[in-house]
Amino acid sequence: MTSKAGADLTVTDAMAWEYAPAPESRDVVSIAAEYGLFVDGEFRPAADGTTFATVNPATEEPLARVSDAGTADVEAAVKAARRAYKQVWRRMPGSERAKYLYRIARMLQERAREFAVLESLDNGKPIRESRDVDVPLAAAHFFYYAGWADKLEHAGFGPAPRPLGVAGQVIPWNFPLLMAAWKLAPALAAGNTCVLKPAETTPLTALLLAQVCQQAGLPPGVVNVLTGGGDTGAALVRQPGVNKIAFTGSTEVGKQIAAAVAGTPAKVTLELGGKAANIVFDDAPVEQAIEGIVSGIFFNQGHVCCAGSRLLVQESVADIVLDRLRRRLATLRLGDPLDKNTDIGAINSRQQLDKITDLVASGDAEGAERWSPPCELPDRGFWFPPTVFTGVSQSHRIAREEIFGPVLSVLTFRTPEEAIAKANNTPYGLSAGVWTEKGSRILWCAQRLRAGVVWANTYNRFDPASPFGGYQESGHGREGGRHGLAAYLDV
Ligand code: NDP
Repeated sequence: MTSKAGADLTVTDAMAWEYAPAPESRDVVSIAAEYGLFVDGEFRPAADGTTFATVNPATEEPLARVSDAGTADVEAAVKAARRAYKQVWRRMPGSERAKYLYRIARMLQERAREFAVLESLDNGKPIRESRDVDVPLAAAHFFYYAGWADKLEHAGFGPAPRPLGVAGQVIPWNFPLLMAAWKLAPALAAGNTCVLKPAETTPLTALLLAQVCQQAGLPPGVVNVLTGGGDTGAALVRQPGVNKIAFTGSTEVGKQIAAAVAGTPAKVTLELGGKAANIVFDDAPVEQAIEGIVSGIFFNQGHVCCAGSRLLVQESVADIVLDRLRRRLATLRLGDPLDKNTDIGAINSRQQLDKITDLVASGDAEGAERWSPPCELPDRGFWFPPTVFTGVSQSHRIAREEIFGPVLSVLTFRTPEEAIAKANNTPYGLSAGVWTEKGSRILWCAQRLRAGVVWANTYNRFDPASPFGGYQESGHGREGGRHGLAAYLDV
């Protein structure tokens, strides 16, 4: 379809293209009927025997039952992590710790297809993304931090930086495996032990990663995985034996965690929400910018904290950009996440679908103009079509609140100063994008945008060597790169 870019393609022409189904086989993964908690190197049921179901959001079919960790399980996991920290992990030379991390990275690569299919089944994201982004990046994080494990004294934190102890890590459902890798790899490289709490709706790849840790011979207690809901997360961050808390998720829960931990010695990093501006100037290469706008907001159904959810386009090129954008959106394929041609998968949960629907209704009510390409939604599962709002003003909820779905709000500007003022008019500050031919304008914008990450003529690119994190209500602390080690060291 993209080979037709620039040609006189109408929406009907685009829809006329038909693809044969290209489903990835789900036989590569075997899902157990029930999973235990991973504590002290073993899988075991929750102390009170409680379980909950995890479902495939594309079909609403239950995939497995998973243990629901309670306070007693949190205590046991933190105790196991403390023991492993004192007796094994902190005493082990960095070069030995590195061997485990390299082993986990290689096993992730060897079992990549299995991880990708499981991620798409449990999360609803297209297999193309889990296969080409989530799993390779997760392995890359383990490789990258394995390289640091025996070089911590050269990382710029003094001659002998010390680990913190036990890290309690709570992660969201949008990149379940990748977020687990972002949290575990630097913590382990720095010599800490971990208790990880995956999101309630996406526990399966974290449990498969626990199996990989077991298979890699990681000493018992170094990594523990506690599945459960918000209560499990709340119990973990309040557990007195936890020395470091790392959280990725909503700003609301991030604030609760910050309040709960205030006054305790635990070190905290918070990666929270965003409402990023993707700024397109009149000299930008239009076709390239269109691809960047699309990947900025429709990648992973817009379930991305750094999504380019506000398009700021210079008024003189707004019509042409919007016209090309609508044509491009008409070529996106929504449907079965396991089909290799799918661009837009399922929304992760009924709850998230309701949130998106509510915010979109507010856009209608406040007078913005809504557009979606012709798009048939499957009968079962949770789905939302790619959606573009024009006529958006800065006071609209859809311009201020994180929608976390495939919904783009378009605003226009006339001067670079106005673009910056509008981009910075948000309580968040995680990311931004700039599209222009001029390097000097990129630097001018980057100096003025209050965002942790600024992409220039690209969007949503990640590398384990690059630090990532936000300002203001997007949280504090950095993950990735050398900076990501600081969060797990007593520096
Ligand atoms: P949450 O912030 O509630 O969830 C993130 C993680 O924290 C999950 O593991 C969750 O468990 C856990 N958790 C929930 N409550 C607590 C608590 N009080 N203490 C400790 N941990 C807790 O996000 P939601 O999944 O509810 O999504 C709500 C909204 O948040 C989304 O619509 C989106 O706007 C935003 N969001 C932003 C993300 C980002 O990366 N910026 C990521 C995810 C969501 P459980 O899953 O069981 O509730």
